[in-house]
Amino acid sequence: MEKEELFSLPAYALAEAVQNQKVTAEEALDAVFQRIEERESDLHAYISTRKEAAQIEARNLKMQGKLSGVPVAIKDNLMLSGEKTTCGSKMLQEYVAPYTATCVRKLQDSGCVIVGKTNMDEFGMGVSTETSFFGATSHPKAPSFVPGGSSGGAAAAVASGEAWAAVGTDTGGSIRQPAAFCGLVGLRPTYGTISRHGLVAFASSMDIAGPITRSVKDSALFFNVMHGQDPKDQTSVPSDDVSLDQIEQYSVKGKRIGVLRELLESKDVDEEVSQAVRGVMDFYERSGAVVEMVDMSLLDHAVAIYYVLSSAEASSNLARYDGVRYGFRAEGCRNPDELYTKTRSEGFGLEVKRRILLGNYVLSSEHFEDCFRQAERAREMMRREFSHAFSKYDLLLSPVSATTAPHKGKAAADPLASYLSDLCTVPASLAGIPAISVPCGQSRSGMPIGVQLMADRFGEQEILGAARVLEREYYSETDIAGKGASSDGGI
Ligand code: GLN
Repeated sequence: MEKEELFSLPAYALAEAVQNQKVTAEEALDAVFQRIEERESDLHAYISTRKEAAQIEARNLKMQGKLSGVPVAIKDNLMLSGEKTTCGSKMLQEYVAPYTATCVRKLQDSGCVIVGKTNMDEFGMGVSTETSFFGATSHPKAPSFVPGGSSGGAAAAVASGEAWAAVGTDTGGSIRQPAAFCGLVGLRPTYGTISRHGLVAFASSMDIAGPITRSVKDSALFFNVMHGQDPKDQTSVPSDDVSLDQIEQYSVKGKRIGVLRELLESKDVDEEVSQAVRGVMDFYERSGAVVEMVDMSLLDHAVAIYYVLSSAEASSNLARYDGVRYGFRAEGCRNPDELYTKTRSEGFGLEVKRRILLGNYVLSSEHFEDCFRQAERAREMMRREFSHAFSKYDLLLSPVSATTAPHKGKAAADPLASYLSDLCTVPASLAGIPAISVPCGQSRSGMPIGVQLMADRFGEQEILGAARVLEREYYSETDIAGKGASSDGGI
């Protein structure tokens, strides 16, 4: 098969071609490593690649899996036995995973070949992949721009053809926002549906892994492979497979879609982004849906609630990096106090330290009641607001991010502004509901724009169906992404 033809195949079609022996897993992997050779020195999407191990796996592949021979990248906070898992941190620079994350093992069992571990903001804290100890990742379309974060390496790898698909993780938006910035589909599944076993913790009540893919069908397929209750994760829950046929047949006719006014009309949202999202609203309305604006008063406080709770959880989760049990240990310390202090001062970057300080502050006895408890209560109220909205609407819609991908350097220059830029993604994280980011347009300068669809818990079928309608019919109607009517994820 010609290289161009090969790259035009979505992951599900590549797996079929491998099963039918039209192409071998080794050929697909070679194509990916050739891309890596051509582009990686500019992009820096990976922290590490594993060419030889992947080649052996491709050669010995069992052919019957749903994703046979698909080269996949995984974010570097997911464990793969025998490989480094750095979380983008000096603290774990030399840490080698002793076991494989459940969701990664499921991918391997379905025939995926793991290409490497992708770059990320340190411990998942950031919006641009610039807080990585190993240096920033570039946007595949424009090197002076960021690919988003914290799963920016994963998104850049997929958008550039350095992997067919990737697994990112999302605490407050880290799958959806980089997917939107890079013109990809990013799925944050219902909390608990994908096991967290082997995912290094940031904020455990919100962390979840999910796919970053070039098409909606691939997103559904990856979800089907990765989900499932896991005895090794007590918060994991059983869930149903998504029906790929039903996604293809999904119609928005008669569906009720609520648009989150506080997000769409926020003063921070760029005109180009809001126009692209309004284009989607009009399209759904023309296709027979009832589209209405919805008010949710607590959305204005979502960023504050998220940063109080996620930092509190992070400060507790990151206490384990003490120079004794894991990873980096500072040299020349004379007593345990000095070891602890020096290790953490030298091992963590600025953003992580900021979160630990914030977390310790909100958990301190003086502030526990007025900060942490209040945020917990507000989160519960927000959950109820979402439940109420889903008693009236099948889907909720909003932008993914207020802007398109920004220039490098912007996030570090103004950390508070970068926290506020999570406005549209943190509500679904707090509520534990599924949310997907789907491409819906481009800015005048050609940077991708995404729209976010949310549904009630376990509503993956609903958001993937509505996303597929958009991908198939809206692109062909507007040719916004320069793709034709048959657009389903080739590059
Ligand atoms: N930008 C958010 C944060 O820095 C979300 C990160 C994430 O989802 N991992 O906390």
